[in-house]
Amino acid sequence: MGEREDKLFIEVAKVYERIEATTGRLEMIDYLKKLFLETPPDVLDKVVYLTLGSIAPAYEGIELGVGEKLLLKALSMATGISQDKLEKKYPEIGDIGKLAEWSVENKVAQSFFQEDLTVNNVFDTLLKVSQATGDKAQDMKIRLLAGLFSDSKPLEARYIARIVTERLRLGVRDMTILDALAEAFLKGRAFRDQLERKYNIFPDIGKIAKIVAAKGFEGLDEIKITLGIPVRPMLAQRLRSAQEIMDKIGPRIFAEFKYDGERMQIHVWKDGSVKIFSRRLENITEPYPDVREFAARAAKGHEVIFDGETVAVNPDTGEILPFQELMHRRRKYGVEEAMASYPTVTYVFDILYLDGREMLDDPLEDRRTHLLKLLREEGGENEKVRVVEYEVIEGNVNELERFFEYAVERGTEGLVVKDPRSQYQAGTRGWSWIKLKRSYISKMIEPVDLVVVGAFWGKGKRAGTYGALLMAAYSPEEDAFKTVCKMGSGFTDEELASLPELLGPYKIEHRHPSVVSNLEADVWFVPQKVAQVLGDEITLSPTHTCGWGRIKEDAGLAIRFPRFMGWREDKGPQDATSEEEIVEMYKEQLKTVSDVTEVESSTSGDKS
Ligand code: AMP
Repeated sequence: MGEREDKLFIEVAKVYERIEATTGRLEMIDYLKKLFLETPPDVLDKVVYLTLGSIAPAYEGIELGVGEKLLLKALSMATGISQDKLEKKYPEIGDIGKLAEWSVENKVAQSFFQEDLTVNNVFDTLLKVSQATGDKAQDMKIRLLAGLFSDSKPLEARYIARIVTERLRLGVRDMTILDALAEAFLKGRAFRDQLERKYNIFPDIGKIAKIVAAKGFEGLDEIKITLGIPVRPMLAQRLRSAQEIMDKIGPRIFAEFKYDGERMQIHVWKDGSVKIFSRRLENITEPYPDVREFAARAAKGHEVIFDGETVAVNPDTGEILPFQELMHRRRKYGVEEAMASYPTVTYVFDILYLDGREMLDDPLEDRRTHLLKLLREEGGENEKVRVVEYEVIEGNVNELERFFEYAVERGTEGLVVKDPRSQYQAGTRGWSWIKLKRSYISKMIEPVDLVVVGAFWGKGKRAGTYGALLMAAYSPEEDAFKTVCKMGSGFTDEELASLPELLGPYKIEHRHPSVVSNLEADVWFVPQKVAQVLGDEITLSPTHTCGWGRIKEDAGLAIRFPRFMGWREDKGPQDATSEEEIVEMYKEQLKTVSDVTEVESSTSGDKS
């Protein structure tokens, strides 16, 4: 049996010391290049992970996270210096790595069988540290680390201490490693781009290092999209107007809803197992058992990687809820309860892989065809995993603007406009995806009083009652009621249940002649009942008739995210908020935000 290939850790530590001392990027790459060339390919993956201050690719989310206290205990055990003394010395030295170095230098305990540390020793021990669980985990970690420190030379101790406390901070990042790998094994620049493309679809940089070290550029062919390993997501550029977007990538475009939820890359195996990765490649499978289940069903036994956005919805009306609602799902405990209160729908906008085939280089249009076939074929598209809502537009800017307004009114952030001929550029903010967002967020502070003119039947919990009411403002000039929103939120369960009875007396067979509506309600009413409604803001709308043509040709105004605040028994329909007032509120809103260029709506760390 051959010896396991290995490398002395002190050699690695010496390179770290040099890297730490340099400020030049090229010099840093050069040190890394030499280190990689002098490392047997067998352990190169481990050297790469350690250099990045870890023991696995970032997306595995393995935490070393050894606390200072624990580290001091291990040092004390290894060196014979009392913990007390170490604790006093620490603030004086100020750095955990240097403290470890000092303590090994000044150790009082003698170790008789000191062995030279190797990369395998260090790595494997750190792996055990990260895996230790249960009651004895702390003791176990202390002993493991003490073992390492008693074999360490002072310089080795410096870096081991920094790595386990996740403070290595050499300033080496994945891109630097790629540069060094290209220099070392791929004839310099020649294959650098290709290497990065591989990294974008297979961001396990340790494995990549091992492959190119062993096989050079021919090894690149082996690196493929792999279920369970996240592809780095494609991101969108942004432009300010529909016209600019049309000029840039038109005339033929896909205009897609831009949902404000959580980006999800969903990997589905043949047997229905599922893994979900976030935009930052974290594994977020746990908090989304529902997405898991529905994605497996949607894949129907195929191996597939979906790219999409998951949003929280109102289960009974299907309304998309604001981003904050979804974040309740990210908490660690009570997944079941959170799932019931905040059900989700996943809108899939791309497919990256299907049954062994990488699809990134196919035009978006072809990928979409596959997606539609898979999700919409019989028994296919279920309610929880859907194809993104989109329109194919050919050169018509007005149509793009109208679709944008419609998307905003429906509770989305706007559109992502895509070039149907484009490839999926993993890990890139490409110009073939351009977002068109609402340019401001404003709060409607005042509630309005609106008249119920119609209703839509509910589903789920709301079967048998109404899922949403069609609400209108009043125009005294025309003596007409003009719709301004569909309202399905803010009701208590009792209020909901009582709706058919409460509104029964006003029910009629057809739209009331004084009601101006583009929407076909399931049930129509004589305009009578007035409700107080609070929304988030007023937006342009291609659907609602209130203020039609007042702000913009072929557009009305809508209240976004309307919530029921209570009935206004004291008001008759003619006392409702007027069309004119809504128009004024819209203008007012524009004024107060006109100098705010952009306020991102999301607070998630996951968003750029
Ligand atoms: P932003 O976070 O503003 O940079 O916008 C990009 C993000 O929008 C993506 O990372 C997705 O999470 C999200 N998104 C929502 N809908 C879409 C869509 N139809 N296509 C692409 N990205 C989308």
